Amino acid sequence: MAVEMHAGLASEGGSKLKMLLTFVDRLPDGSENGMYYALHVGGTNFRILRIQLGGQRSILGHDVERKPIPEHLMTRTSEEFFDFLALSLKEFVERKGNNSQLSQVRGKDVGFTFSFPVKQTSVSSGTLIKWTKGFSIDDMVEKDVVEYLQKALSRRGLDMHVAALVNDSVGTLAVGHFYDKDTVAAVVIGTGTNACYLERADAIIKCQGLLTTSGGMVINMEWGNFWSSHLPRTSYDIDLDAESQNPMDQGFEKMISGMYLGDIVRRVICKMSLVSDVFGPVSSKLSTRFALSTPLMAAMHEDDSPDLIEVAKILEETLDIHDVPLKARKVVVKICDVVTRRAARLAAAGIVGILKKIGRDGTGGITSGRIKGVKSGRMRRTVVAVEGGLYTSYTVFREYLNEAVAEILGEEIAPYVILKVMEDGSGIGAALLAASNSARSVDTVQEAVIVALMVVALAVIGG
Ligand code: ADP
Ligand code: MG
Repeated sequence: MAVEMHAGLASEGGSKLKMLLTFVDRLPDGSENGMYYALHVGGTNFRILRIQLGGQRSILGHDVERKPIPEHLMTRTSEEFFDFLALSLKEFVERKGNNSQLSQVRGKDVGFTFSFPVKQTSVSSGTLIKWTKGFSIDDMVEKDVVEYLQKALSRRGLDMHVAALVNDSVGTLAVGHFYDKDTVAAVVIGTGTNACYLERADAIIKCQGLLTTSGGMVINMEWGNFWSSHLPRTSYDIDLDAESQNPMDQGFEKMISGMYLGDIVRRVICKMSLVSDVFGPVSSKLSTRFALSTPLMAAMHEDDSPDLIEVAKILEETLDIHDVPLKARKVVVKICDVVTRRAARLAAAGIVGILKKIGRDGTGGITSGRIKGVKSGRMRRTVVAVEGGLYTSYTVFREYLNEAVAEILGEEIAPYVILKVMEDGSGIGAALLAASNSARSVDTVQEAVIVALMVVALAVIGG
């Protein structure tokens, strides 16, 4: 992971890890004040929120509203889609406000979490690379999503300013840092998986001369697409990938995230059912993709009844496999365990890879050897913010992941590394980034980019 991160930072397309620049060069530190809004578009659900910040790491007020995105809007025009977002925000403002609502939000900053691949051009602009998760609004591709949102807000008469465009992992890092300044990375493990971390500007080789006010920048790794020849793949992984909507894509995600774990288990049970008679006659449900969801897999895994009643029930109701003997039910639990354990340990290894890249794993980085432990005085407290349903709701997964991080780091270093759950992090994070990047700060980041471009231009002229 550390080597691939390096390659992805060295050149565009240098690795399967995109290592995207976010232009977030300063993270919220708790001093933020005032009222901020956020829109979170992740998948089928949409969230609007408002936070009131009181400085000193305090969130005085926090209102959230969840709303499904009407399916027909996912495939029509950008105008209809963004108009829906703007109207929803306007209604939210009117509901939450007192009487003179709209005048109160004049000039307020909005953070926009948009969990689709975006090529950012500044902290508050970026073009859509491609739609995923069932969206296909063709006229949006390669367009600036903030510009569209900003225009829609104006059309609806909302005088609000989109101050930050944020990936959900970056939002999670922002909240983590808001509460704890030792937070250097964030990982999302839900339906999909991704990670981001704070990198030194001079380590971002593909963007030479990049100067930021803080000397650092958050990098969105898009780690779901990580791959390495060192990563062993089973026939189940190969089949899952081949039958997926995006073959040869998101290889790491397909071994780790909630969208896939249940389906790997289904494939293993299916194979066993085909080659043996432990599960009786072969159920046709076993060859239906995604017939077993990850929450149901977790429910079987965590069944602590002596007769594994829950396992029997789920096999029956979900996979149409009846009268499974106890011995075979125990095998099912074991399969869930193996699949979850592998996923959790891979994610843990990825986290330690990030720490290694930034010299927080007790070694001197990816080129030098291990420093003799803590005695060198170099070890600092390091926090990784974690968000996502798989980590927060699947206890065994969480325990395996935590355990593996400690195991890989070793007992001397492990006490310095803390994984912290940031529930709903990405939404609040977007509002916090809107706060720390409201008008004045945005200018400084853009200035830094201009300076960087000038440095590059001078270098080119200078030969
Ligand atoms: P998203 O990733 O879509 O933003 P979440 O972070 O809430 O949403 O994660 C949802 C995913 O987490 C689900 O798709 C599911 O795979 C997984 N998940 C949620 N609850 C559980 C559970 N109890 N056990 C196992 N996995 C769960
Ligand atoms: Mg999410």
